[in-house]
Formats: sequence, structure tokens, C-alpha cells
Amino acid sequence: MHRVALIKGDGIGPEVTEAAMEVIRAVTDRINFVEFEGGTEVFRRFGVPIKDEDLEEIRKMDAVLFGATTTPFDIPNYKSLIITLRRELGLYANLRIIPDLWGDREIYIVRENSEGLYSGEYEVDDGRIVDFRVITENGAERIAKFAIELAKERNLKEITFVHKANILMGDRFFRRIVLGLAEREGIGVRERLIDSFTIELVRNPWQHRIILSENLFGDILSDLASIHARSIGIIPSGNYGTEIALFEPIHGSAPDIAGKGIANPIGAILSGAMLLEYLGLNGRVIWDAVRDYVKEGNLTPDLGGNAMTVEVVNGIVSKIEEREIDPIEWDELWVDEIRINTIPTLFMK
Ligand code: ATP
Repeated sequence: MHRVALIKGDGIGPEVTEAAMEVIRAVTDRINFVEFEGGTEVFRRFGVPIKDEDLEEIRKMDAVLFGATTTPFDIPNYKSLIITLRRELGLYANLRIIPDLWGDREIYIVRENSEGLYSGEYEVDDGRIVDFRVITENGAERIAKFAIELAKERNLKEITFVHKANILMGDRFFRRIVLGLAEREGIGVRERLIDSFTIELVRNPWQHRIILSENLFGDILSDLASIHARSIGIIPSGNYGTEIALFEPIHGSAPDIAGKGIANPIGAILSGAMLLEYLGLNGRVIWDAVRDYVKEGNLTPDLGGNAMTVEVVNGIVSKIEEREIDPIEWDELWVDEIRINTIPTLFMK
């Protein structure tokens, strides 16, 4: 049995995580979900977005499934729950998958998640503030390795590395590490400068399959690339550390549609698929079922349909069940197959 921490959050967070759990349960009964509270309410009561003892428990789990939480502006000193979790759990790699669900292609955005301009280090001096854009050898190496391993696992021959090495010293250092490692591993690197690359990412996105960048650049690029998925509601992500990984849809808590039963659950469901792959279970069957469903099924309003969340969940579960294979067998079959040729050990527990 795998133990997975569940943090549903608020807004549409609970609706979409419950949807993901239902789909996961249609694939495997080998996950034991343990629920934890976190976010604004916890902060109001305890002054932290998640309690220390809960964090300690979560550290002992195999993975985390996260919904969404609102980060309010009006609570003084409020610390974002997801940023706290990324830091406390050492989740250094952020992988966002921008899927073309109607075609058979994806863009993987690999963002360094722990340093760069979001290092949190700054200096206040007489009349000026300096934010430090920290790039360490260890930080650059481990994220470059992550992107290169992903390329190998997906049978891709190259990655796109986006930087501003013509101006920034940190990116010069980062670039040397990425190019050196890629050469040793036999993976090509297409280099792009961050400013002109934004235009390319709008006009001609699908020729770049794996995009690697520093924290702030990666943050902006991954938001920009989201437009190619047709709705923010369908994009999944994983945050990986050396001990644990956390999976979440990229959308926020969407207070405007919360409680109406119309949230698109696909981003959370595909995050569940990434979670299963990380645990060595059959996540691929969920990707296939979602792709089958969207081609013919009724979609939620963000994708132009009039389906409720529950209808989409039921439709995807039916697609899984149509495969008429015993779920236990799937796991075993896929664990073997994944070990051989799909998921590199880097992404697995
Ligand atoms: P937060 O403060 O939590 O980030 P937000 O409203 O600023 O919330 P999102 O939650 O990402 O940001 O929502 C942006 C827009 O996208 C909203 O109009 C929301 O309704 C829509 N949206 C986000 N997620 C979904 C979803 N899963 N299904 C349908 N619409 C969504």
C-alpha cells in the first residue's frame, strides 16, 4: 500500500481532488489517502498555513495530492500554503504538462523550483533593495538532470533550454552545466533567449517538447504555454524532491465557480495520473481514458460544453472500465512495463 497525503484546499479544490480520487480508485486500490488540513482557515487558527505536526506526518508519506487554495491579500503576514510545502518538502523540480488532448502531443515545462530569483534572499541597503538571483551548482545540476532524464524516458533527442546567458552571469553558469551534462548524456540542447522565445511559444509551441528554465522564467513560460491547452482547468503538474513529490492541477481555487459543480476536473485527474506514474502504478490508463473521453463526451463550460464535474468524472471512469482488465492486473502489468521503458527511476519512489 502507498500512503498519499491529501490536501483538498478550498474553492474548487475539494471538488476536483475528490474527482481525481474517484478516477484513481477506478485504477488501483493500492493507495491509502490520509487527509490533512491547510490554508487560510488553518492560518487564522494557528498562525501557519499548515501545522508543524502535520508537516512531520506528511514527510513520512510517499506523495501528496493537492487541490487548490486561495492566497488572500487581506491577512497580514499570510504565507502561501503551496510555497510553504514546496520549501519544507524540498520540491526542487516543477513539471507542468501542457497537453493537446485532441492530438497526441504534450509540452513539458521543467522549472527550477527552489532558487533563482525566488531564492528569498535579499538585501536592504540605504535607499535600495537587491533580490538575489541564486544559481548553485547543485541546483543547476539536479534540474538539468531532471529535464535530461525526462527526455530519455520520452524518447526525445533534445530539450529546449531558455535563458538570458548573454546578459546574466547566473545563466552563463547554468548554461555551462546544462550543456555539459546534456553532452555527456547524448541529449541535444536547443538554446533560446527568454525574450524572443515568448513569441515562439505563442506562435509555434508544439515543436518544443521539453522546455527547461530557471525559476522566474519558468514561472512565466509555464503560464504563457497554458493557453495552448484550451483551458487552465486541464493542466496537471508535479513538484518533485528527492524524498517525496506533490501533484496538483495548476489552476487556483476559482472562487467564481466554487460550489456550482461545474469545475473542470481534468487537471486534477491528470495530476492523479502523474502521481500514479511516480508510484510506479498505471497512470497511462488515465491519460488514455481522458483523451478518449474529451473527443466525444460532454465537456464542462470552460471547454464550451454544459457538463457538470460529476458527468466528466463518470465518463472518464467508464472509459477506464471499458478496458475490461482487472485493475490489479493493470498495476502489475504496468509496473513492469513502466520499469522497462516509460518512467525513469528518477520519477519513481
Ligand atoms: P486563486 O486566487 O486561487 O489563484 P483565481 O480565480 O485568481 O484564484 P484561478 O482559480 O486559476 O485563479 O481561476 C482563473 C479563471 O479560470 C477563473 O475564471 C476560473 O473560474 C477559471 N478556472 C480555473 N480553474 C478552473 C477549472 N478547473 N474549471 C473551470 N474553470 C476554471
